[in-house]
Amino acid sequence: MLKIQAQSKIPTDYGVFTVYAFSENEEDWSPHLVWVAENTDFSTTVNVRFHSECITGEVFHSKKCECGQQLDAAMKYMSENGGVIIYLRQEGRNIGIINKLRAYELQEKGWDTVEANLKLGLPADGRNFDVAVEMLNILKIRKINLLTNNPDKIKSIENSDIILNSRIPLEMDSNKENESYLAKKKKYFGHLLEKI
Ligand SMILES: [Zn+2]
Repeated sequence: MLKIQAQSKIPTDYGVFTVYAFSENEEDWSPHLVWVAENTDFSTTVNVRFHSECITGEVFHSKKCECGQQLDAAMKYMSENGGVIIYLRQEGRNIGIINKLRAYELQEKGWDTVEANLKLGLPADGRNFDVAVEMLNILKIRKINLLTNNPDKIKSIENSDIILNSRIPLEMDSNKENESYLAKKKKYFGHLLEKI
């Protein structure tokens, strides 16, 4: 069972957030992080983003995906409108950074983002969003607007007791390096993308 291990306020380029670390035990060095913007009221409809860790995109500005831009856009949105970012430690669609780099190596040889994972004997997408729902429940968030393009995230809410008030699209512009990745996201995973 997850629990809040620690919490603190952090000022950012996008305003002040209160950050909660969630894990099953306090020795976990990669807890999930919940970032709550200052003007957020849990008793009403809350803007929520489920965001899976992507160190290459968020920290090192990789152009192979749009995760860094999405995280920045989500922080900006939450700071302006109130809301919560649930940062999930599910790096590389939950195959981990080592396997993600292995998959990237295969992609250099011509395999696409899904084929590369399958060739390594890994799931195309190994993420589980029930853990994000669990954190919403612990925080007593009952009704949300979900910032996402991902139908699996929508399903995870529909299968829970939390009310999905609306979906807010979070679509970034593509670039030369990530357009085939985004096209695969739309075609294979059914992501709700309109620009690609
Ligand atoms: Zn990424």
